[in-house]
Amino acid sequence: MDSVLILENFIDGSFEGCEFHIDSYCPATGQINARIPDSGKMEMNQAVKAAKRAFPFWSSLSFGARGDYLLKVADLLEARLEEFAKAESRDQGKPTWLTRNMDIPRAVLNLRHFAHAIPHHLNTSSVKPELGVVNYTTREPVGVAGLISPWNLPLYLLTFKLGPALITGNTVVAKPSEMTSVTAWMLCKLFQEVGLPDGVVNMVFGNGPNAGEALVVHPDVPIISFTGSTATGKHIALATAPLFKKMSLEMGGKNAAVVFSDCDLESCVSTMLRSSFINQGQVCLCTSKIFVHRFVFEDFIEKFVNAARSLKIGDPREEDVFMGALNSKPHMEKVKRYIGYAKEDGGNILCGEGVDMLNVPEHNKGGYFVRPTVITGLSDDSRCMQEEIFGPVTCITSFDTEEEVISRVNNSEYGLCASVWTSNLGLAHRMAHSLKVGTVWTNCWLVRDLDMPFGGVKKSGIGREGTQDSYEFYTDAKTICTKI
Ligand code: NAD
Repeated sequence: MDSVLILENFIDGSFEGCEFHIDSYCPATGQINARIPDSGKMEMNQAVKAAKRAFPFWSSLSFGARGDYLLKVADLLEARLEEFAKAESRDQGKPTWLTRNMDIPRAVLNLRHFAHAIPHHLNTSSVKPELGVVNYTTREPVGVAGLISPWNLPLYLLTFKLGPALITGNTVVAKPSEMTSVTAWMLCKLFQEVGLPDGVVNMVFGNGPNAGEALVVHPDVPIISFTGSTATGKHIALATAPLFKKMSLEMGGKNAAVVFSDCDLESCVSTMLRSSFINQGQVCLCTSKIFVHRFVFEDFIEKFVNAARSLKIGDPREEDVFMGALNSKPHMEKVKRYIGYAKEDGGNILCGEGVDMLNVPEHNKGGYFVRPTVITGLSDDSRCMQEEIFGPVTCITSFDTEEEVISRVNNSEYGLCASVWTSNLGLAHRMAHSLKVGTVWTNCWLVRDLDMPFGGVKKSGIGREGTQDSYEFYTDAKTICTKI
């Protein structure tokens, strides 16, 4: 058995123990993986104080000087990719090939991209002789940024916030998910190794109601970037409303795919398989309901179910395993509960949970596994078609017309993303314009360009992040008008 990691908070450049701890489990075995600090108000106050103290110096540095630190951390992270990839997989439950090829390289890219791209977003100026003035606009860092991240893409999403927050001159107090804190703690060691000034990055571990709440309502934290569930986002928005903070909320989704009969069905099925089941269906952008044109419905189902059945599920360290474990026992129970709701609501479970045998190695018997599950026969207003399950469960339904499918896809409280599959370019664009979501992929999925705005509409979020949007979010504009 691997030894249990004891994590410490990273405050003002030093690692500090905490009196209380929370057990964090390895999802693939059910064994304790780490003990993380159960921090509260006291630790959060210390961290915010340190970040506030570090702000004047850090924000006075040039973009180049701040960028140097980020680039050095990116280089170190890249050099230790394998170590981080294994730790992320063990902590989160996803296959190591995925953390090696997606999560950790993307974390490296997040730091490099923002360090290079944001400095090129220049201030604007105007000379107005008729007014006798010259105007110019500066963008200034906001202050101590509170960063709250979830467990599904731990280092990937944390660095998506850290990169732009730091390069723009903010100091940071971050609170990673209590379920997956290990790689964030490892990253603090890299910040220490490159000699980042004390207090610029502070990492306080703990659960949402204690550590998270203490961060978001702290009066000296004027800006919050949150990624997580809609329920928590709503709670944070309500708790912080009287404090008028700058806020970015990236929340839940219930993402649809629309498959027209003229699409390249082979390519569509293989991408839909990935978009439904990668990371055990625990990517906010995963597809959870597929609308298939009646002409190709039977064909699609046959191909999709056969392919889903063939996906290997088991020990995340094995290279040919496509799906590892769900992140926690309560989450696994929630996913299974939803499959139960599908049965109650008249759905047919075509494969997966309750239909196919789960066959994982002996040492993974205590892990949190659910087979890829495909459901048909549900009405659009059923629980599985409307609520976020966030697991390897996909519902498939048929449609007849373009107008009909637009209105059915838009019949959702969420609006994060969608994908459209057709070889008709005009139809692809019409659909893309009609769907009420933050991102539409046509004939592809999860191709991400960090320069493009990312975020959702409706209950999926408020605000956008990406090069220009992150720059604007993590800075405040100031117009300076000078008489000439
Ligand atoms: P969660 O809302 O339970 O937790 C997210 C973070 O918020 C954690 O760090 C948690 O400790 C913290 N938190 C909880 N209560 C808090 C409080 N009262 N005050 C401050 N912080 C608090 O979400 P999760 O279960 O970790 O993540 C899964 C959810 O995240 C899914 O709904 C998924 O769709 C969403 N998600 C969205 C995106 C996106 O970009 N839109 C990306 C990834 C995940």
